[in-house]
Amino acid sequence: MSTTNALRTIDMIRRAGKTADAYRTAQHAVREAHDEHGAAQAQLHHRRDPMPAMGGTGRASPLLAAVQEHRKAEQKVRKAEARLQRAAAAVQAHRPALNRYPTEHNRHRATTVLLDRLADHPVDLIRAADLVIIQTSSGKDSLVAMHRTVAAAKAAGCLHKVRVMHCDLGSEWPGVPDLARRQAEHYGIPFLLVTPDGGFLGMVENRLMWPDAKRRLCTSTLKRDPTGPVITTWVRELGLDRQAIVLNVLGVRGAESASRALKARLALDTRTTSANRLVLTWNIIHGLSEQQIWHDIASNGLEYHPIYDTGLERLSCVYCVLAGPDWLILATRVCFALELPHPKTFAELEQRIGHSFKQNFTLNSIVAAARILDALDGPITWRRGDAVRRHLGPAAADQYLALTR
Ligand code: SF4
Repeated sequence: MSTTNALRTIDMIRRAGKTADAYRTAQHAVREAHDEHGAAQAQLHHRRDPMPAMGGTGRASPLLAAVQEHRKAEQKVRKAEARLQRAAAAVQAHRPALNRYPTEHNRHRATTVLLDRLADHPVDLIRAADLVIIQTSSGKDSLVAMHRTVAAAKAAGCLHKVRVMHCDLGSEWPGVPDLARRQAEHYGIPFLLVTPDGGFLGMVENRLMWPDAKRRLCTSTLKRDPTGPVITTWVRELGLDRQAIVLNVLGVRGAESASRALKARLALDTRTTSANRLVLTWNIIHGLSEQQIWHDIASNGLEYHPIYDTGLERLSCVYCVLAGPDWLILATRVCFALELPHPKTFAELEQRIGHSFKQNFTLNSIVAAARILDALDGPITWRRGDAVRRHLGPAAADQYLALTR
């Protein structure tokens, strides 16, 4: 099956699934409307019967109400039946996919198999796509994801399809947005900086709460939500008279966590996909180890953020709500060494809103612990290239420094 046909099939299965859902919902609505209709009819008869015997006008108002109820119920039945008819017509239109992959389980399985095969052929995938968006944090994984996407796009002769977007929450380490821009410019790719209103600290201040692992509003509201409108604008700019194929590249690796390990290399983004765009999330570096990431960076002389040289393994927000105490203490000591205002700003905010940064400890206690360690051991220091040195050894670091001098 060609890449384009596989993509068409994936969308047909998606539409068939939606149709089956709509059909089920319509059936349910018809059943409910019939029940309501029956109840209204019973009420009407109940109101009508005593009328002649009573012979009075005192019952006119309840009868009127019952008649109105009955009419409303009849209307509901008509509407629900019309909906069911429309859903049934849609089922007919998607009959091939529904016949071939009749259950939800089978549709999911068929989609997964097709996506998995497509992920094996990145060059063909990019050729078939209309737009390739790299969402970068400017961290090491995003950097290698960008490098590999660009390599595949060049091999496909499709670099013009690639664009980069970076979401600036205002709580990252200094220089992150500029680095993201430089990394995109290095490959000659258009770059878009998105700055959500209020950023991370504004969101915390408004909610009077820090996000946590269960309610990661920082990623869902501030990072994921702005992506939809950007895709809409870019797809509109393409001016296609058919559904656009959009690849949304993320620097997600399976080795990072158990939940990430479960993610697929290529997945259908059902939230963002619509009639005019089929959006696939492409975790292009999903199978790479941390060592391989550093190898790609070092051997290609790619510019990484100096924060990695301090011993911090992730380029996240300065204070990430998912980080453990050791990581946060180290981040605080790096802030001290760089004379950054973050420890004070975050600790003051924590006190002001009266909500602890983490469930088991406060940020104020982290800052205090970092002060004690600095007093005992002195400020922490690092050298350029330490991240490569740590992961690949001194020779690789020397080579990297020579390449990027
Ligand atoms: S780095 Fe941490 S705190 Fe920042 S947005 Fe991501 S999960 Fe939230």
